[in-house]
Amino acid sequence: MIRACLLEATVAAAGLALATPAAAAEDPGLQRFLDTYRELVETNTTLSAGDCTLAAQRMAARLTAAGYPAADVQLFVPDGHPREGGLIAVLHGTDPNARAVLMLAHVDVVEARREDWERDPFKLIEENGYYYGRGTSDMKAQAATWVDNLVRYREQGFRPKHTLKLALTCGEETNGALNGAQWLAEHERAAIDAAFALTEGSDGELDAAGRHVALDVLAAEKVSQNYTLEVTNPGGHSSRPVKENAIYRLAAALERVGAYEFPVELVDANRAYLEAESRIVGGARGAAMAQVAANPGDAAAVAVLDQDKNLHAMLRTTCVATMLSGGHATNALPQRARANINCRIMPGVSREAIQARLAEVIGDPQVRITIPEVRGPVAQPSPLTAQILGPIEAVARQLWPGVPVVPVLEPGASDAQFMNPAGIPTYGVTGFFTDPDGGGIHGLNERIRVQSLYDGRTFLYRLVKLYAMQ
Ligand SMILES: [Zn+2]
Repeated sequence: MIRACLLEATVAAAGLALATPAAAAEDPGLQRFLDTYRELVETNTTLSAGDCTLAAQRMAARLTAAGYPAADVQLFVPDGHPREGGLIAVLHGTDPNARAVLMLAHVDVVEARREDWERDPFKLIEENGYYYGRGTSDMKAQAATWVDNLVRYREQGFRPKHTLKLALTCGEETNGALNGAQWLAEHERAAIDAAFALTEGSDGELDAAGRHVALDVLAAEKVSQNYTLEVTNPGGHSSRPVKENAIYRLAAALERVGAYEFPVELVDANRAYLEAESRIVGGARGAAMAQVAANPGDAAAVAVLDQDKNLHAMLRTTCVATMLSGGHATNALPQRARANINCRIMPGVSREAIQARLAEVIGDPQVRITIPEVRGPVAQPSPLTAQILGPIEAVARQLWPGVPVVPVLEPGASDAQFMNPAGIPTYGVTGFFTDPDGGGIHGLNERIRVQSLYDGRTFLYRLVKLYAMQ
């Protein structure tokens, strides 16, 4: 999970909290949804001790019980990873020419130790208006809602124009684990083919008083790419130093990288963010946002925004030194010095272009720049068309009148990093409004407001229905 919470907590609330909690008595489907949610949260899906395949089987059972034929509910278990499986399910559309909409969710969760938590992390516990438990927010709320959507649509005999697909995957939360979304993109591309996908990545923002501030929509992500800088040297005895020194040469290169600033680059997501946010923030900061949105070359306005590290990262590619090694003995001249530069590349920019830029900035051919590992092709920025934003704004208006929809560009990365390069533009939208502190995602005592869960469920139900019919 990544989370773009870029609004200042001090920003004046633009809307009020919903006053009427949905009650299970009024909506018999709500209890069934809560059972689904509870079952997911209480199925441990950590990499160490959990079982995503079991979670997928349980969700598949719910879909088959709702009447989905076995052919439309497929479990997948990558070879050699028996507990890291997932699920693809389909509700067929009526128009063979209309491309599908993919509901994507990872069901794995970050590790959680009972002794560290106040409550059992793998029990869904309701307390003080919150649900507590690992995954209550990231992202079993949305995973359960996706399953619930399909169950409800089927129950109502809903015949979507566009085929609706569901993919539940494993391995998003653990670096180096088999990533189910990546596996699907590589092995089951046809099965997940869609005009676009919806997943996590940004939520709604509440202020400290619980008022709705903004509904964020993640519309672009940067790509993480490492570069190795390396200098080699014949070395020698440190009692007879010479001017040519691998560590000094590397240090000089790093200084230049540190001093360099990539130019501001606007794509739909960060431009729309600046425009929407400028109206919310107001003042000198809001004016600077509007100026940069209109003219990314406005250095004075950019300088105002760059004071905020979130904004700074949202506006451009960044590269930063993250690891350093060099030398082999305290009394020897270094034969080798090496640094890792971690770049976060704007969508649509190739890793080779950044490599070439680094070489220009360093300006020293003796500093070798190599790419240690490549994750996959670079994605084009996802377009923020009216077909994407229109339904989000329409449902948001129904549920949270006056609360602005704010597109964001996320400097981190989610499963969209595998979908976008596969040609499936992926947007992060949940409708779950979270507290300013992030709700313990990845940390202790993860939680979600009960009302936020109910509202988000309603939001995603209506939203997917709108997408399915447009
Ligand atoms: Zn997540």
